[in-house]
Amino acid sequence: MKKILITGGAGFIGSHTVRHFVTNYPEYTIYNLDALTYAGNLENIKDIEGKPNYKFIKGDITDADFIIGLFNEYKFDGVIHLAAESHVDRSISAPNVFVKTNVMGTVNLLNAFRVLWQDKWRDKRFYHISTDEVYGSLGLSGLFTEESLYNPNSPYSASKAASDHFVRAYGETYGLPYVLTNCSNNYGPNHFPEKLIPLFINNIINMQPLPVYGDGKYTRDWLFVLDHARAIDVVFHTGVNHQTYNIGGFNEWQNIDLVKLLCAIMDEKLGRSKGTSEKLITYVKDRPGHDLRYAIDAGKINNELGWKPSVTFEEGLALTVDWFLANQEWLNNVTSGAYMQYYKKQYLTP
Ligand code: NAD
Repeated sequence: MKKILITGGAGFIGSHTVRHFVTNYPEYTIYNLDALTYAGNLENIKDIEGKPNYKFIKGDITDADFIIGLFNEYKFDGVIHLAAESHVDRSISAPNVFVKTNVMGTVNLLNAFRVLWQDKWRDKRFYHISTDEVYGSLGLSGLFTEESLYNPNSPYSASKAASDHFVRAYGETYGLPYVLTNCSNNYGPNHFPEKLIPLFINNIINMQPLPVYGDGKYTRDWLFVLDHARAIDVVFHTGVNHQTYNIGGFNEWQNIDLVKLLCAIMDEKLGRSKGTSEKLITYVKDRPGHDLRYAIDAGKINNELGWKPSVTFEEGLALTVDWFLANQEWLNNVTSGAYMQYYKKQYLTP
């Protein structure tokens, strides 16, 4: 039986990834390591609690001694590393924790994996999950490929870029068998409502303003989170060591067009008259260092590993809205308390 450590499995993408592996690979034992920060929520994976091939471990990847002890105790054959501080706006107001978690946390995991398996790498794999934001901003045309130069512009993307470099450096220096993916923006069930799509779904339900940065022309490439979890499976099992794969759905949207599409879907689902939600759109002061456009060329993973998204954006967005409408208790629990204070400070102060 293989022992797989998944970090950050109580977060958004991590919870879908953990569920995917626990469900599809009963021959593996999946260890979910998460510090349960504001973004981690065991509610996201309560349906798999008690499964015989699943174990949750509360712990912090920035604690080097704890991580070494954990690897010695469980002898993980594979690591799928998602734990991170993930929100760009938070990285602008408080960058240090991004360096600590995203850079030092990753290096702690690399060190523990290296010490455990040095020179016995056969059938071992370290999979690092990263973002397309490491490439910086595109102009109006072109796509990020695996050869694009790193040019991060926010403390978040700089910390992820640094962690990617460490993973590659451990591959070159110590022969550590890694794979690395850079994925576009995810959306879907359990998305923390500080991020654009769930924030706007919540605000539309409550008839609150929809804060759109700048002129709304910022462009992002969106992928349904379950398709990301499937891609992680494919890369973990069939990706080539020391290779990077970009993951995306060839699905670019300007923020303002996305918001209008979401408003139309929500008006219909909530039985409101056409145009009701669009009236909530409010343009707010731009984020500093805001990247104009991200767009992924996913040709390598499509052609070499045979992965493609399974849903269109319209289908995925409708599934997402349905999930949030059916899980308003989850949403209310997440938006009460600390997150609400952060949200008010971030978007609603003059
Ligand atoms: P998230 O913020 O929803 O979840 C992060 C998880 O990591 C949380 O459960 C949190 O408790 C945990 N965590 C944070 N610090 C920790 C620490 N010190 N020790 C242990 N656990 C800790 O993030 P997400 O959106 O699910 O992103 C997961 C990964 O995917 C990140 O590495 C992110 O950079 C990457 N990524 C995200 C997107 C996206 O659109 N969300 C796109 C591409 C790549």
